[in-house]
Amino acid sequence: MKILVVNCGSSSIKYKLFDVDHRRVMASGLSEKIGEPASVLNHHYTAADGKDQKLVLEGHVTDHHQGLKQIVDLLLDPQKGGVGDQSEITAIGHRVVHGGDSFHAPTLVDDDVIADIEACIPLAPLHNPANLMGIQVARKLFPGAPQVVVFDTAFHQTLPPEAFLYALPYALYDKYKIRRYGFHGTSHAFVAEEAAAFLGRPLAELNLITLHLGNGASMAAVAGGRSIDTTMGLTPLAGLVMGTRSGDVDPSVLVFLAQHEKMSAAALDALLNHKSGLQGLCGVNDMREVIDKIEAGDQRAETALAVFAYRIKQYIGAYTASLGRVDALVFTAGIGENAPLVRERACQGLEGLGIAIDSRRNARRAEGVQEISTADSRVKVLVVSTNEELRIAQETKQALEKRAG
Ligand code: ADP
Repeated sequence: MKILVVNCGSSSIKYKLFDVDHRRVMASGLSEKIGEPASVLNHHYTAADGKDQKLVLEGHVTDHHQGLKQIVDLLLDPQKGGVGDQSEITAIGHRVVHGGDSFHAPTLVDDDVIADIEACIPLAPLHNPANLMGIQVARKLFPGAPQVVVFDTAFHQTLPPEAFLYALPYALYDKYKIRRYGFHGTSHAFVAEEAAAFLGRPLAELNLITLHLGNGASMAAVAGGRSIDTTMGLTPLAGLVMGTRSGDVDPSVLVFLAQHEKMSAAALDALLNHKSGLQGLCGVNDMREVIDKIEAGDQRAETALAVFAYRIKQYIGAYTASLGRVDALVFTAGIGENAPLVRERACQGLEGLGIAIDSRRNARRAEGVQEISTADSRVKVLVVSTNEELRIAQETKQALEKRAG
């Protein structure tokens, strides 16, 4: 079964065409700077001779309709990794950031579903409108194919009230649905399943702490395959220290800054989302640059890493308490998969919780799943490559099968 996965941003379209039963990517790419004079599309595909090829298309792309049309033309060209006929693409899977508390699972798109996603726009004003645009355009370009929406928030809809409620007046929850939602759900769910397969045990029996450490970073406590707590909140700003986002801060800091610096809501939002995190602490947001600075003796970068790792460590402790027993920690995403130093610092001193990393294993990097804990570590520590697009394709297929009964 061939499934196209689409992730639409405000000026970009990311896509992957999967032969989902064989976990094979036929073609993929990114269309960027849509609406700007110099738009660019990078298309990757496997040629008939089995070699990986890349194609770059430059020129003004006016809007998402034209952008997706350009992509579809490539995907209908067998010489470019595409299919011979549009009908071979069974379905389109869309990433949608915020599903509020309306969506617990991948969902087939109809007009009511679109209205429900629109209703979640106040919760994700930057993301949901772009995601919706992708759905609308794909419905026009693929009138015969079912569209399925897969939400970043859905996996965390199993959180119990004690984990998702903030201790604010309950009326605010009733009125605005202000609560913890959590994000990166597709990634947390994917790596939890991969970890269970690696450990050779049913996911239903396992208690896992999953750590998605990328530009955005979040952790989840996963009991028997169900998320029971996660670090992000109403928005992806809460929890861990990130590239440019603060993660948790005392809410009074905002009141203090509003009073003393006369900062507006928009200025506070920009401060917390774009000028904080690693960037705020040491001037660079990319973990590779933080590590380069540390190697060059930069004390601020050293402190930034310490704050970053300490926050993770605190949540490992918190989620150990939430889960009662932990079988494995699962590191993933750009930093989680590629930065041994961060994994080492985050787990340092946790032997009392049964967590011990083998420094030799930690330094190696292999594709797929890798075990980096010592032989006698009670809690296994794994590094798992995430693959959110594959998970969206798999969930899209499952949604179709469910419909077919
Ligand atoms: P996102 O998908 O959230 O944009 P990624 O999962 O691609 O982010 O992760 C990006 C982060 O991963 C960046 O901070 C980058 O510095 C970090 N990263 C990637 N490779 C390495 C590496 N070899 N060492 C340290 N950090 C890395």
